[in-house]
Amino acid sequence: MKIVQFVSRVDTEKCNGDKRCEKLCPSGAIKVVNKIAVVQEDRCVACGKCSEVCREEAVEMASRIQPMRIEFDVASVEQEKIQALCGQAGLLPDLPLCACTATTVGEIAASIIAGAKSPEDVVVRTGAGSGCGIYCMAVIFKLFACAGVQIPEDPRWNNLPLTSHDVSEEIAKKYPEYHFDSLT
Ligand code: SF4
Ligand code: SF4
Repeated sequence: MKIVQFVSRVDTEKCNGDKRCEKLCPSGAIKVVNKIAVVQEDRCVACGKCSEVCREEAVEMASRIQPMRIEFDVASVEQEKIQALCGQAGLLPDLPLCACTATTVGEIAASIIAGAKSPEDVVVRTGAGSGCGIYCMAVIFKLFACAGVQIPEDPRWNNLPLTSHDVSEEIAKKYPEYHFDSLT
């Protein structure tokens, strides 16, 4: 769960439209239109990455008038489906996945079952991926794969860290105590 207190604001006088922010935003909230970065405020999870990456100092994080709460309602999805998807990924639904927002594996699974089609959708619906984006993203990808959802190609998601599920069969057999195929 995340209470989003801030929102990205672009100084249009300073923005040169180089898309450095767009290429890094985990929620797809900032996009360059007519050579100026534009923020879709209801998608901005206030990670601050656009502000950090902007060489023109064109982005600042402003306080929201109304903080935005992000939390996926797992009760809105059939619990058996959540259990099955998490089990396929070898993960427990109640496991906190995101160290930054304490989002659980079950919340991610539920958001995918409910129709998330990309990592950005998961970030906007659950808050996971709005912090460091290191530990959660590998698991988000795993759950998408187990759900059979083909996510769009995007350079943002290259070079993701591998998980214990990604090792070869040979290595998995050699170290069975560190690897499991499913939890059902
Ligand atoms: S990184 Fe800065 S200058 Fe570049 S498009 Fe984004 S806001 Fe504009
Ligand atoms: S989600 Fe992060 S990178 Fe995207 S617009 Fe908001 S603060 Fe910037």
